Amino acid sequence: MRFWKNLITPVLTGLLFLPAMAQNEGGGVLPQDNKPFVVVIDPGHGGVDPGAKGSYSTEAQVALGIGLKLGRLLSEIPNVKVYYTRTTDALPGGGTNIKSALRWRADFANRMGGNIFISIHCNSTSPIPHREFIGYHTEYIRVHHRRVKRRVPRYRHYTTPNIQEGTEVYVWGVSKDDDKNLALRENAPLLNDPEYKSLFDSSSAVLNTIFWNTVQREYTKQSITLASDVENQFAKIGRVDRQVKQRQVGIWVLHATAMPSILIETGFINNPTEETYLNNNQEQIATCIYDAFVNYLAGVKGETTTQVLAGSANPPVIQPVNDNYSYKIQLLVSANKYPVNDPKFSKLEGKVVREKDRVNDSTQYRYLLGNFKTGEDASQRLEMIKLMGYKDAFVVTFRNGKRIDQ
Ligand SMILES: [Zn+2]
Repeated sequence: MRFWKNLITPVLTGLLFLPAMAQNEGGGVLPQDNKPFVVVIDPGHGGVDPGAKGSYSTEAQVALGIGLKLGRLLSEIPNVKVYYTRTTDALPGGGTNIKSALRWRADFANRMGGNIFISIHCNSTSPIPHREFIGYHTEYIRVHHRRVKRRVPRYRHYTTPNIQEGTEVYVWGVSKDDDKNLALRENAPLLNDPEYKSLFDSSSAVLNTIFWNTVQREYTKQSITLASDVENQFAKIGRVDRQVKQRQVGIWVLHATAMPSILIETGFINNPTEETYLNNNQEQIATCIYDAFVNYLAGVKGETTTQVLAGSANPPVIQPVNDNYSYKIQLLVSANKYPVNDPKFSKLEGKVVREKDRVNDSTQYRYLLGNFKTGEDASQRLEMIKLMGYKDAFVVTFRNGKRIDQ
């Protein structure tokens, strides 16, 4: 009986993790087949888990406020779809277990086919412990049946507030050597850091570490790109830049999401000045993250930010700046040599030019109209030209004065 028990337990444990392993797809860096770009916003903590506490607000409340405002801004971008891990003050997934909720957040992001995962938190610091010498007191101890007098130093123990300020953004990294150019400071987790404790999930992390290392390794670069720009945007408005930090262990929501993922510490809620800022300037904080996201999306799509915000599905190919392009409309090709001021051209606005061409020992003349700066201008004009009877007319392109199509 004991034998079977020992055998069955690991098998059952393995089965329990199967659903989690199956939800590993995520959406990758960019959506496929013109699907919307999926952003998963994860306001940290919630419900029974208030996170760090300020004097009048909690991390869970601030993270939710910023997360919802960020989501509203991002939803305005064409072809962007926003999902939230929570929209109320409750743990995601409907449970009361903080570790299960962590797994639920990552699984949810993967199930929704997320292309980016943004987790929002607030920082906090433990008070600084101090020991002050306040004098000696005398005590007696026994040594070999003799009573011995001893002076013992006395100390007063007390703490002072640890006031820190600024923002930092975490990404998950496989190792410092992943990409030598990244030059990120590896941040060893502080075991007494309450944030670290709440974000670390030893059970599933141990089981799935190798698997998720492989998954998340693909996205480290994109995660750092977005994380760095979030810090840039915060710095622009005068926040203290505590930089992007890479963690190799501990942050499950970053580790187990199959997409670029960042965790933003928006400020120190136990610093009274920052607590006020975090409660009163959530729109500004959300706008910084939004600006960084727009830059990021433009980068991965190979578009300008204007194109991202206009939602152009097929961005025009950007021509090299050192080449000079121009466009003409070819009206007709004929063996007849018409003067360019022939009455048949007079109703067309614009200058007509005639080019001589030899094809198979016979001479032909091409008649071209206008000189347009953009292909779009030429195409618009072409529609009018066709309506005027030049049914076979088409646009021809010149690069540095030389025709490049026939
Ligand atoms: Zn937190």
